[in-house]
Amino acid sequence: MRNGEVSYWWQAHGIPPRRPSLPGSAEADVCIVGAGYTGLWTAYYLKRADPGLRVVMLEAAFAGYGASGRNGGWVTAGLPGSRARYAASPQGRNGVRELERQLRGTVDEVGRVCAAEGIDAGLVKGGTLTVATSPAQDTRLRHQLEQERSWGDDSEVVRYLTKEELAERMRVAGAVGALYSPHCARIQPADLVAGLADVVTRAGVLLYEATPVTSISAGRARTAAGDVRAPYILRCTEGFTADLPGQHRTLLPMNSSMIITGPLGDEAWKSIGWDGFETLGDEAHAYMYAQRTADGRIALGGRGVPYRFGSGIDHDGAVGTSTIAQLGRILRRMFPAAVGAGIEHAWCGVLGVPRDWCATVSLDPGTGLGWAGGYTGQGVAAANLAGRTLADLVRGVASPLTGLPWVGHRSPRWEPEPARWAGVRGLYVLYRTADRLESARRSPRTSVLARAGDLISGLPH
Ligand SMILES: Cc1cc2nc3c(=O)[nH]c(=O)nc-3n(C[C@H](O)[C@H](O)[C@H](O)COP(=O)(O)OP(=O)(O)OC[C@H]3O[C@@H](n4cnc5c(N)ncnc54)[C@H](O)[C@@H]3O)c2cc1C
Repeated sequence: MRNGEVSYWWQAHGIPPRRPSLPGSAEADVCIVGAGYTGLWTAYYLKRADPGLRVVMLEAAFAGYGASGRNGGWVTAGLPGSRARYAASPQGRNGVRELERQLRGTVDEVGRVCAAEGIDAGLVKGGTLTVATSPAQDTRLRHQLEQERSWGDDSEVVRYLTKEELAERMRVAGAVGALYSPHCARIQPADLVAGLADVVTRAGVLLYEATPVTSISAGRARTAAGDVRAPYILRCTEGFTADLPGQHRTLLPMNSSMIITGPLGDEAWKSIGWDGFETLGDEAHAYMYAQRTADGRIALGGRGVPYRFGSGIDHDGAVGTSTIAQLGRILRRMFPAAVGAGIEHAWCGVLGVPRDWCATVSLDPGTGLGWAGGYTGQGVAAANLAGRTLADLVRGVASPLTGLPWVGHRSPRWEPEPARWAGVRGLYVLYRTADRLESARRSPRTSVLARAGDLISGLPH
């Protein structure tokens, strides 16, 4: 079994040769720090709108080295934040509705650009299933459905599937019901990010790799090779943001880990189903997420070790044996037919979590400093919408996107250590214990431990 090496997605794609590093000081109209989906989509839409713009991207490792080349491959319209918190903005509930509508459109926008630009990322829009594997999870699903309806989402957006209806799509052992939403697609993440990097460089963006930025200030991104000066400097570093001076408590680097099986045989697929290629998650507090890959495997992820003291970031993606064992248990429990395929690769990555769990897209017109991120694990589609929005903000275009409630949203900073570490680790101890109790007791009520966890974390529901 391979472990780390960035991700299975990159091993399957082939890690591309490095692009050149920044040769020395330079000037640009826009400088983008970080070449994941956020930075690349921003560059893409800037160049499409104004091909003459001089756009320089500075990337510490290589394009797609971060979460964008390691994620679960859900292009999801899920809101990266809390409805109630965004509704506190001047746009109110209508603003939230519009953000959600834009996110749903974004799933199609990603597909449209892939088709237009010849990026083969294995995109299939099969929707998403959230299964309940205990009565308490089922109660939460039904409660969530009521919430969706109270916000005006009808069965075109989300609907409940009975155990039998779920089984017509796929057989998940122990499932008692599910929610289904059509607004999600599956991709091979590295294929998407590699394709995007090629497209933007062909459009004339100067993308420098192995060029870590050591500090960002108005008009200047500093590197060991020299400074890039530009009226707009955009920070697109999501889970890595804590390493930048002055940003240590802005976004918490949350770890997420994945495993992938070997290819499943025809018999196994016949018994599981999953012919619609829906993405799949559960309603546990420490939830899992999965996809059926284009090459006939199951890729499955979960939280693992959620957080390292002092916002430490693990760079090589290697996963501890206990996390691999934990994810393997989930795989065997939900898909006994997949056991024979074994686990071929495990890896992890970091995503960015703001203190109020609400993502933001911002540009300070006074300094020209901009940033986007904090998608809390729902960043694949959101980064496209954020990139389009940042491009409009930089160009000074007032568009429907620049009025969305996440634009200019400010989250509080995280607590200093050791409170941050104790809080996050404690939260996941509570969540995992609650999950165990809920499965063992078979009670339809959510464990009080989980409610205590929600209160500590401020996690939106
Ligand atoms: C295991 C895992 C599974 C996930 N699954 C999903 C999913 O299925 N669906 C979903 O919607 N979201 C998912 N996410 C979240 C999603 O992948 C991210 O939110 C999204 O990719 C963020 O993109 P980004 O460009 O903002 O950040 P990243 O992709 O992390 O890119 C940031 C880039 O900045 C570079 N960088 C950092 N610091 C510097 C510096 N100082 N100088 C220069 N460059 C720098 C990094 O090397 C990196 O390439 C998952 C995340 C992980 C880790």
